[in-house]
Amino acid sequence: MKCPACKKEMFVENFGGVKVDVCKNGCKGIWFDWCELAKLDEKQEGFGKALKEALDFPRVNDEKRGQINCPKCNIPMYIHKYQSSKEVNVDECYGCGGFFLDSGELNAIRDSFMSEEEREKYAQKIIDEIPEFEEAQKDLEKEKMRAEAARKYTKFIRLSYYLTGK
Ligand SMILES: [Zn+2]
Ligand SMILES: [Zn+2]
Repeated sequence: MKCPACKKEMFVENFGGVKVDVCKNGCKGIWFDWCELAKLDEKQEGFGKALKEALDFPRVNDEKRGQINCPKCNIPMYIHKYQSSKEVNVDECYGCGGFFLDSGELNAIRDSFMSEEEREKYAQKIIDEIPEFEEAQKDLEKEKMRAEAARKYTKFIRLSYYLTGK
């Protein structure tokens, strides 16, 4: 996959069980698939050499970069503050739910958590400001339920196969 910011090839790295794409030879940005960032946004989460290295990436000022396109869906991503951080602007794709973090932002997110109350206020602000947000989140939820249902269903098929031989 090509980096959405600098177009260099990204490399898959394992941050302690969570696979992410890292722009190692370019801007040091990190791509997270849907739900993956939430697994690493708190200080005690994740482990390993690759994660340690990524946390040492220097913080860059991405303010002037402007909007980028999702490397998976090729639609414009939304820039907003990360749901749990007071200080970090992330790029989020409402098509696939992926996140792009510029160099140093993962570390900043892990360092600057919002309180419950701040988080709720901020979530409401995003919903008010970006009309598509709520719809997109609903779609993602539906996707998740569909995936969940498919998983259960296949399990069921397999089970009946073992039980009845069909
Ligand atoms: Zn890059
Ligand atoms: Zn996308």
